[in-house]
Amino acid sequence: MIDTPKTTQVVVIGGGPAGATVSTILAQQGVRVELLEREKFPRFHIGESLIPETYWVLKRLNMIPKLRESAFIKKYSVQFVSDSGKESAPFYFHDNKDHDCSQTWQVRRSEFDEMMLRNAEEHGVKTHEGTRVLDVLFEGDRAVGVQVMGEDGEKREVRADVVVDASGQSSMLLNKLKLRVPDPTLNKGSIWTYYKGAYRGEGRDEGATTVLQVEDKKGWFWYIPLHDDMVSIGVVGDFDYLFKGRGSHEQVFAEELQRCPAAKMRVENAEQVTKIFATKDFTYKSKQAAGDGWVLIGDALGFLDPLYSSGVLLALKSGELAADAIAEGLTKGDTSRAQLSNWEADYMVGMERMRKLVCEYYDGFNFGQFVRRFPNHRGDITDLLIGDLFKESLDQVFISIDSLKAEAETMTK
Ligand code: FAD
Repeated sequence: MIDTPKTTQVVVIGGGPAGATVSTILAQQGVRVELLEREKFPRFHIGESLIPETYWVLKRLNMIPKLRESAFIKKYSVQFVSDSGKESAPFYFHDNKDHDCSQTWQVRRSEFDEMMLRNAEEHGVKTHEGTRVLDVLFEGDRAVGVQVMGEDGEKREVRADVVVDASGQSSMLLNKLKLRVPDPTLNKGSIWTYYKGAYRGEGRDEGATTVLQVEDKKGWFWYIPLHDDMVSIGVVGDFDYLFKGRGSHEQVFAEELQRCPAAKMRVENAEQVTKIFATKDFTYKSKQAAGDGWVLIGDALGFLDPLYSSGVLLALKSGELAADAIAEGLTKGDTSRAQLSNWEADYMVGMERMRKLVCEYYDGFNFGQFVRRFPNHRGDITDLLIGDLFKESLDQVFISIDSLKAEAETMTK
């Protein structure tokens, strides 16, 4: 039986990192929130590598002590390996900022997401697992609630002042309102699996994320060490390249591993302990983040190629910003689009900076070479890599990248 009330202040669709964040911060401000999640937690999810700027939202959620006590592996750096096998020096986060957020975690998402959801409950959020949202209800252009269905097939309505769509790539409202803007260039997919007993760095390098380029730069592998001696390893490449006319996902994964000796060497003596997973159709955004009575956050608002592990950060950050806009709007009695989207413009600019850095990598950008040429930008690059995306000064990096490209072009003429 569904135990949702008939009315509340805010309904949140989805209990991933975005949904847990928005609802916890609203509950902290005394707002009544009902969170509706179709699965029962713990449930599997990809997206295991956090980046340091998650620290500030996690701190606000009171999650830091829980993460410090957890088994999650500490992550201090990210490292790049070129298609010729050349390793860049690690980008240690603390080179840039000597404070608490110079370290983050590699998390198994089933465990992390459940911790976040239970933490939301501790802060007063009413959660309903096994409860699927079937539709968002509108009166004119204003969202007024949702229709839900419990595990037994029973349906009912929950009316709310604000509906938050945190349904991840299901993107309920983005699909219903036809708001999807596909990325003009990033059309990628991914195939991944998990190993036990694979290579691990030592000391503070144990938890480094490594990005390894495949031969001819046709794609790249992520290599993410997790606790319990597990490693998450996956290849990302152009959709057509990975999925058209190449046989099973297992076959493609094995072939790509052959084409990336540095990745192959890392799992050579290890045991593959799960099936192969695949996902397609990366990178899109919504035309708008909010309307009258509704807000989109996390992957439901937009998704970026996972190259720099920015997804959970963006889910947390948009959840935080939306929560503050909603709480303020409820106090003022204003849940119009203008109020609920007061964070949208700055957020989208930050997301675009990360997108540009992703595009540069696919365009052949070499971190080591760039930092050698522009040592003054080393800190800015680290800022981008830790997810400190929301400051204008970073735009200078892209001007320097363009000048380096122009130089290279002149030399080849
Ligand atoms: P989700 O985590 O997807 O949560 C959405 C929730 O909504 C789910 O629990 C779902 O069950 C629920 N839901 C959906 N529809 C309904 C409905 N109708 N009713 C009720 N509930 C519903 N990010 C990183 O930070 N680091 C990484 O290393 C990383 N690697 C990635 C690798 C790949 C291949 C991919 C595809 C993504 C990766 N990401 C990574 C991105 C990351 O997975 C997402 O950005 C992140 O999970 C977004 O969180 P969210 O809360 O918006 O959505």
